[in-house]
Amino acid sequence: MVAANWKCNGTKASVDELLQSFAQAKAGHPVECVVAPPLLHIPATQAALKGNALWAVAAQNCIAADGAFTGEVSAPMLKDFGVPWVILGHSERRSLYGESNGIVAAKVKAALAAGLKVIVCVGESLEQREQDKTMEVVLAQMAAVVEILPDGSWPSVVLAYEPVWAIGTGKVATPEQAQVVHAGMRTWLAEKTSPEIAAAARILYGGSVKSGNAASLYEQPDINGFLVGGASLTPDFLAIIAAAK
Ligand code: PEP
Repeated sequence: MVAANWKCNGTKASVDELLQSFAQAKAGHPVECVVAPPLLHIPATQAALKGNALWAVAAQNCIAADGAFTGEVSAPMLKDFGVPWVILGHSERRSLYGESNGIVAAKVKAALAAGLKVIVCVGESLEQREQDKTMEVVLAQMAAVVEILPDGSWPSVVLAYEPVWAIGTGKVATPEQAQVVHAGMRTWLAEKTSPEIAAAARILYGGSVKSGNAASLYEQPDINGFLVGGASLTPDFLAIIAAAK
């Protein structure tokens, strides 16, 4: 999977232009491409990519249920609007909006119950990495989610390892650094779930991925694709898809 996270970016004109290039993309190899625009741009994205089986649309966040939650959008609403995927637990949600591991887990549970598929983000800060706490942090973030997952959920769950220090900084993790964490996540998953689930789980890398570094990251055995921020706002995203082969 190669997923685009546009965050809070895009005018009608810029999105239109970008979607024209996305709509013409043909991967030529088996890859699932997901694009997560800001909510207002979702209908235009759905319309532009309709009929192109390469693409699916995602939201960047949701809450569990409808109700008196001013400014929010719920998992059942996304389902109702034909949005199949949602990104949950992005580090910006965790750090800027106070989403704890428990909140992220509850959202994952609600999204799955609503019939959505989820991309769950985990990752350590620079301080945590420097304190040698990377795996502790990442596995605690994963554990909160894995504990609440109903049986049979894994086909609808994708994990994204996104070291916070690499997001939007231009400082990409080396393929080796990323592989160590991805392998640790998969080994842990095998212990907590089953070797079959762990082997089939898709673990994306995110953090300053560009066409120039994607191929060497993708060569790593436990990197199954990418979650891309900045570069997904440009046609360079199509070259990242090509590199995930
Ligand atoms: C992200 O926000 O998920 C991300 C990976 O951003 P960037 O590619 O810009 O580092």
